Amino acid sequence: MTARIRTDLDAIPAYVPGRNFPGAIKLASNETTQGPLPSVQAKILEAAAGVNRYPDILATELVAALASELKVAPENVAAGNGSVALCQEVVQITCGPGDEVVFAWRSFEAYPIITRVAGATPVQVPLDANHVHDLDAMLAAITDRTRVVFVCNPNNPSGTVVRRSKLEHFLDAVPAHVLVVLDEAYFEYARENPEGDYTDGVELARGRRNVLVLRTFSKAYGLAGLRVGYAVGDPSIITALGKVRIAFAVNSIAQQAALASLASKDELLARTDALVAERERVRNALIGYGYDVAHSDANFVFLPLGDRSGAFAEGSAEAGILLRAYGNDGVRITIGDPHENDAFLNYAATAAL
Ligand code: PMP
Repeated sequence: MTARIRTDLDAIPAYVPGRNFPGAIKLASNETTQGPLPSVQAKILEAAAGVNRYPDILATELVAALASELKVAPENVAAGNGSVALCQEVVQITCGPGDEVVFAWRSFEAYPIITRVAGATPVQVPLDANHVHDLDAMLAAITDRTRVVFVCNPNNPSGTVVRRSKLEHFLDAVPAHVLVVLDEAYFEYARENPEGDYTDGVELARGRRNVLVLRTFSKAYGLAGLRVGYAVGDPSIITALGKVRIAFAVNSIAQQAALASLASKDELLARTDALVAERERVRNALIGYGYDVAHSDANFVFLPLGDRSGAFAEGSAEAGILLRAYGNDGVRITIGDPHENDAFLNYAATAAL
């Protein structure tokens, strides 16, 4: 006889990471292609010499540096084991069985998993025809059981952002007791544009006590393997997150690497300009081949290929390029180095025929 495990877990899928095989061009996980800066690598090595000691449980130095960067108080900031851990903590501090978590679909695939693991109920609101969050429909989906609404901005996997004016209107309309999480894992790749789509969640969260912003060092800061993310919001939420967090969640090497990366912020953010230029090049080429491509403000593009999605991703894998297919909705392609993007475009050109 085996141990008794919660039977409801049988129906919950495990998080599926991007695929990999030796020699593959990996455009499946929204990672940065460049390694850490030499200054960051030096800090990693230095911190490695001290791993016989437990890390600072509160990541005090990192929290202080982030607070000063974002012009908030340290009480407004928490560091977590990647922003995905913070997503889970958010659901843990707000939800019990039967409570509801509203999010767009498709969106970050961890949302339904962490919701169901908490015994809560996912409420998925379809993206609109342009693959953008339908904030009116999300507002209408809020019931008296709703505890959290995730707004993934830019959205993974569609890459789209919600207009600032629409988001402000939404935040003003959501009941004050419902927590709105602005998941900004791809914030650093979003650019101001004439339509005013650009949004800085931290600015929107000022004075709105039910808004929490999540960001990460995994993408633009290139530390996906070290697992550091952070939350910015009202001290009451930050304190509650700390209660459910696993002790010492952010290890000492990660804390030092994040601090050193923050110190080299300008150099790291300059890399995002090159990525954005590549994103536009790839998107325009795909449009030229006849593809419908969602507008992206992230480090990937999304092709809504419908029932061709699986075959497209399989064909791409056979050509040595790993992408991510989302059922019969579409495929997501991470923007890599120019030669990797070229390899993908070559494949896409033939697959478009
Ligand atoms: N949010 C979104 C929207 C993501 O796409 C990801 C990574 N795939 C995360 C959060 C989690 O990132 P991390 O845990 O590496 O900070």
